[in-house]
Amino acid sequence: MVPYRPEPFTDFSNETNRKAIEAALDKVKAELGQEYPLIIGGKRVKTGESLDSINPSRKAEIIGHVSKADAELAEEAIQSAHKTFASWSRVPAQQRARLLFKTAALLRGRKHEFSAWLMLESGKTAPEADADTAEAIDFMEYYARQMIELDTTAASRLISLEGEDNDLRYIPLGVGVIIPPWNFPLAIMAGMTTAAVVAGNTVVLKPASATPVIAARFVALLEEAGMPPGVVQFLPGSGGEIGDLLVSHPLTRFISFTGSKEVGLRIFELSAKTAPGQKWLKRFVGELGGKDAIIVDSEADLEAAAQAIVASAFGFSGQKCSACSRAIVHADVYDEVLERCKELTRQLKVGTASDLASSTGPVIDEAAYRKILSYIEQGKKESRLVTGGGTAGEDGYFIEPTIFADAAPDAVIMQEEIFGPVVAFCKAESFEQALDIANNTEYGLTGSVFSSNRTRLEQAREHFHVGNLYFNRKCTGALVGVHPFGGFNMSGTDSKAGGPDYLLQFTQLKLISEKL
Ligand code: NAP
Repeated sequence: MVPYRPEPFTDFSNETNRKAIEAALDKVKAELGQEYPLIIGGKRVKTGESLDSINPSRKAEIIGHVSKADAELAEEAIQSAHKTFASWSRVPAQQRARLLFKTAALLRGRKHEFSAWLMLESGKTAPEADADTAEAIDFMEYYARQMIELDTTAASRLISLEGEDNDLRYIPLGVGVIIPPWNFPLAIMAGMTTAAVVAGNTVVLKPASATPVIAARFVALLEEAGMPPGVVQFLPGSGGEIGDLLVSHPLTRFISFTGSKEVGLRIFELSAKTAPGQKWLKRFVGELGGKDAIIVDSEADLEAAAQAIVASAFGFSGQKCSACSRAIVHADVYDEVLERCKELTRQLKVGTASDLASSTGPVIDEAAYRKILSYIEQGKKESRLVTGGGTAGEDGYFIEPTIFADAAPDAVIMQEEIFGPVVAFCKAESFEQALDIANNTEYGLTGSVFSSNRTRLEQAREHFHVGNLYFNRKCTGALVGVHPFGGFNMSGTDSKAGGPDYLLQFTQLKLISEKL
């Protein structure tokens, strides 16, 4: 088998590539406003109530009308996944992996089309959408290989004993509830779903309500690749309305969740309760929020640091769990780094995501828009506004990239996840103090250190407590297989998506020993 390699990104400065994405946008625009039913056991179910997915760059534009599940349909979806588990769990791992390879190949062939859906439904710019699509391909290529490896090598890890034949197998768990966020509406949703499925589980996929059309299109791709009916139930609906039922159901064996700390903690608690008739301890795999920091030492490449802060803070309008929301800069270089970040930020063009000239697009919806603006007001009270701080257009949810300076380590904007284009600068008198400030959070997802001093980098290697620590590079942009991704503390269960152990969370090990 060809070894796994991450999918290359598209260079949109190349004229041919620009034309290709523009053609894809035209094609997708002609398909807006369609209806998308639920899919349960392979059957399309259209409901009376639907979610209207909108373009956050143009609030008036409907991306699609997606049927919305109620409690009765959620129950039906769990029952369908339970029924199909009996057959799917017995499909050989190689065959399950083949379905992922095929889906990845289909997606690669329609890369720009899926990126265009991402640009219109989630407000990603072309390079951000392209990276999301590439990551979805990567997850499938990587997890398919990981499953084959687990399946073929498990028994060989046993120590042999004379007079016995010993066998070790990774077997699936059962019915999984997959609850992804909207911010990587293709990559995370596809990665969470296909990891569970390639391991032999059946799932109920409840997509994020802001981005259900991309999920519907991906499920259609799985079907096209030959995924049998009943393996993946497509169940859009409000998390607040059907979430508890799915999580608490006695037939639910595991929950794979990526999203906010608040919702994650609720699911964690509910999943620990045993429902009448439930025969197992539910497994919870949860990847939650972040409050990620970039530290800039007094001895560092300051231009590279400023570029990284701006890219990590404002890429996809700061709506990444890995986004830099705190810049902790040594006092000796603080003014210089802050000034350069201000200049770079003012060069960013906020605009419609599908316009290739835009550097960043909108935030996802009205609720996010209001929440981020209220954090900006909070920032004005507790620190110094350097640039941005306002809105940037009426048609969509546009907010200016915003920098606050001189924030105290305990300021609200240094502690709470804002999930928007806002970064707070904080001055540190020493490298040790910078590390203390960086660790002064309940989260522990990503972090970066810019330094040319080897001793300080080694100090950070030991003491900077985050799941993904980067040196002299930005804190966003983890690659599948290269940078397994997941956080410490309130950032989640550190499941390390795109890592060699990720699939273990969706399997259990069975030992069979025969006396000869
Ligand atoms: P969210 O509001 O927590 O929603 C995540 C998912 O949970 C959505 O599908 C949502 O459905 C569903 N949900 C809401 N309430 C629920 C309930 N009571 N029971 C079950 N499901 C429920 O998060 P988000 O706004 O989509 O995503 C942003 C958050 O995700 C940020 O905190 C970010 O840091 C985090 N994130 C973390 C990672 C990571 O790897 N650590 C990666 C990406 C994002 P509805 O859409 O219908 O409400």
